Amino acid sequence: MHVGFVGTGNMGAPMAANILKAGHAMTVYDQRPEATAELERLGATRAADLPSLARGARVTLLSLPDERVVEAVVLGSPGAPGLLAGAQRGDVIFDLSTVSAESTRRLAARAAAGGVRLIDAPVSGSVSGARAATLAVMIGASQEDLAPWKPVLSAIGTHLFPLGALGHGNILKLLNNYVALTSQAVLCEAMALADRLGIPRDTVADVLGRSSGGSFILERKRAALAARDYRAGFFVDLALKDLRLALEMAERAGAGSTVAREAWRLYGEASRKGFGTLDSSGLLKLLEP
Ligand code: NAD
Repeated sequence: MHVGFVGTGNMGAPMAANILKAGHAMTVYDQRPEATAELERLGATRAADLPSLARGARVTLLSLPDERVVEAVVLGSPGAPGLLAGAQRGDVIFDLSTVSAESTRRLAARAAAGGVRLIDAPVSGSVSGARAATLAVMIGASQEDLAPWKPVLSAIGTHLFPLGALGHGNILKLLNNYVALTSQAVLCEAMALADRLGIPRDTVADVLGRSSGGSFILERKRAALAARDYRAGFFVDLALKDLRLALEMAERAGAGSTVAREAWRLYGEASRKGFGTLDSSGLLKLLEP
């Protein structure tokens, strides 16, 4: 299957590499030419622009920072035509980015007018999961809809969740990050408290990891936190965007969100202090003594 891949950053590059390794032909595009260099070495072709990528690929995957960029890539922007300018009727676009269900539904309607199907398929499992091809993929389509594209999506994730309805992948992803990013914030607070009490971060991680305070986040981040290594990973600014989207979703649904709102405020403070392109666990830099 000939696959297009747009956005080969921290998550996109390892996902695209695994699709290539599974034997699919691939055309790639990123606004930073250096972001596709390793994939070209693995056999991918770099497209000159988005319409030419879409002309060659019957299925295209996007891994982009936010909904504004996703929209510009699909629909185009002034002077720069998007994927729809080169796509054929029957083509499918899976958007792996973390965006809102509303933006997916709006964009899917525009794509459908040209006979192209856009489906939300956000992922979870962090960069290490992207490298190991063990991501969870939350898909706004049914099992049957997914069947033709399973060989491609199976190359990036071991847990494919076909959730039936457009936008439900986005909703589940935002619910996941609501929990994960809020619990990361409280973990950072606990580590900063342990610093003040003279308890090594490794000891905290060893004990909490075998106790009820343990979590996926603790296991994934413990080595980096102990080494005070806050390189991304997953940028503070992306965490801020995801929590904002989750809070907007809660507000529209009339649900309370006191704890997550406080975590969002902390990520915002970290971003304003210049930590936006540190890993989201770099929140600890804000709190540590
Ligand atoms: P990133 O910033 O490392 O990658 C985004 C890529 O998109 C970059 O290479 C950038 O150059 C490219 N890009 C930006 N604008 C573009 C445009 N107009 N045209 C073409 N390329 C463009 O971010 P990431 O961490 O890889 O995250 C990508 C998406 O995945 C985000 O929506 C994020 O929320 C989500 N996500 C990230 C993680 C993680 O751990 N990093 C985990 C799950 C989901």
